[in-house]
Amino acid sequence: MPKILDGVAIAAAIKQEVAEEVQSLAARGVRPGLAAVLVGSVPASQIYVRNKVQTCADLGLYSDLITLPDSASTAELLELVAVLNARDEIDGILVQLPLPARVDARAVLDAISPAKDVDGLHPVNAGHLQAGRPALAPCTPAGVIEILKRSGIAIAGSRAVVVGRSDIVGKPVAMLLLQQNATVTICHSQTRDLAGITRQADILVAAIGRPGFITPEMVSPGATLIDVGINRLSTREEFDRYFAGDAKREAAFAKRGSVLVGDIHPKAFAVSGAYTPVPGGVGPLTIAMLMSNTVRAAKLRRNLTAAQ
Ligand code: NDP
Repeated sequence: MPKILDGVAIAAAIKQEVAEEVQSLAARGVRPGLAAVLVGSVPASQIYVRNKVQTCADLGLYSDLITLPDSASTAELLELVAVLNARDEIDGILVQLPLPARVDARAVLDAISPAKDVDGLHPVNAGHLQAGRPALAPCTPAGVIEILKRSGIAIAGSRAVVVGRSDIVGKPVAMLLLQQNATVTICHSQTRDLAGITRQADILVAAIGRPGFITPEMVSPGATLIDVGINRLSTREEFDRYFAGDAKREAAFAKRGSVLVGDIHPKAFAVSGAYTPVPGGVGPLTIAMLMSNTVRAAKLRRNLTAAQ
């Protein structure tokens, strides 16, 4: 039977460690702080930001939620980021994506001080990551590494294949796996013989954004499957394509009218040695790593940590 890598439990353990670290920093007069910037009223973004702010409160971090109307301009956002860069009680700045199409998102993210870039998206941090220097790494990729390490999956020497090369997930996860001494292959939409490559993976990371894209034939028996994808299925036809006969999912679909599926087909999990489920795998790690990065940024900014 494949082992289920329980992201909820791993995220809870990381949050517990963060809360303990926040307590010990409090004894030294330091309270790590996160500024969350939300533009407009996209319901999913509102939920994500609310969860992040709530988690700060749960773990003892300071947080400041700044909401701007949909009409906010690039100039207004740049001004806000400059203010947050200068505020001493703010250690991490999170600009919730996506920003309205009018706004120059790249310019806004690049304006964040690299020392406060807790999403790890600034080119300076991307460069540090690539150079193998201490950096604030993007949260979801950092979470993938935590899942592997804390589940006792050997990374060093393994053959890791990452499908997807986005700046947010694919590329940084590949860099982090390389740092951990895996032999890494990055695949994308132009890759020839994708299945031939994915079948060689000891660790297969899917970050594609296509429901159930990785099928059982693409997986080597016993491989570890890390499913970063989050895709919502809301029609009966879609549901049946992935989950026909799954009574538990059927009940969830009947109740909510939709269910989530990752980028890995549920049938592929059966041939794996271990896998992250969707939901409850990689997803919960993203907020946990955001909290961890905020504490790390607070310590780095005050020279309270040896470089890691
Ligand atoms: P992007 O759309 O930015 O990148 C998708 C990548 O998949 C691209 O590199 C693309 O290749 C590649 N790809 C697309 N089609 C194929 C194909 N047919 N064969 C091989 N590769 C292909 O997505 P993200 O990286 O931002 O996100 C990926 C998934 O992860 C999404 O489902 C997203 O919702 C999820 N996600 C989950 C998070 C979490 O907390 N769990 C956080 C962030 C994302 P190319 O570059 O050639 O176009």
